[in-house]
Amino acid sequence: MIVFDMDGVLVDVHSSWGWVHDRFEVDNEDSLKAYKRGEIDDLEFIRRDIDLWRSVDHRISKKDIIDILEEAPLMNGFDECFPGLEQRYDTAIISGGLKPLAKHIGEPYFDRIMANDIEEKNGRLTGQGVLEVRLKDKGEAFEKLLSEMDVEEEECVAVGNSWVDSPMIERAGLGIAFNPADEKIREGADLVIEEKDLSLLLDHV
Ligand SMILES: [Mg+2]
Repeated sequence: MIVFDMDGVLVDVHSSWGWVHDRFEVDNEDSLKAYKRGEIDDLEFIRRDIDLWRSVDHRISKKDIIDILEEAPLMNGFDECFPGLEQRYDTAIISGGLKPLAKHIGEPYFDRIMANDIEEKNGRLTGQGVLEVRLKDKGEAFEKLLSEMDVEEEECVAVGNSWVDSPMIERAGLGIAFNPADEKIREGADLVIEEKDLSLLLDHV
């Protein structure tokens, strides 16, 4: 099985949430700090992100957000990996990013997509999130995936770009730091790919 992080790996944006914040000209620096300090949990972090968008336009719909997300650029080399890799591997995305983007880029190619979502009712965002991947504990999602797919961690390739991916990278049989954003992800990796070019993966898998 091959498991990918999304933001900074499959798409060339640092954060899919940040991609939407930029569009609304808001930033979540305060809640990011509070989250990192452990003062708020994942769902509260997501609520505060959605509130930022609703503070600009309270009538915003999920479709509006999906339209913004669908403009996010694919990572260089994605088209050389897919279609193709999914014929040789079971494939999955584990992302703390936005699920509508993961589905948009990955639905044809990935057996399982785990990511976080935004709730909508009657054509408006409710302000609530749907949590599937806790950002600070991707190891939890990774374990769930392995057991669902009945795969051992040694049989798994994991590809990620930041410290939040370390629990997957360190445990996978082959852990690949791609486009690494920090030292932590380099340290735990079996292999580091510095260039933002996914086709370089094909030399190793
Ligand atoms: Mg990432």
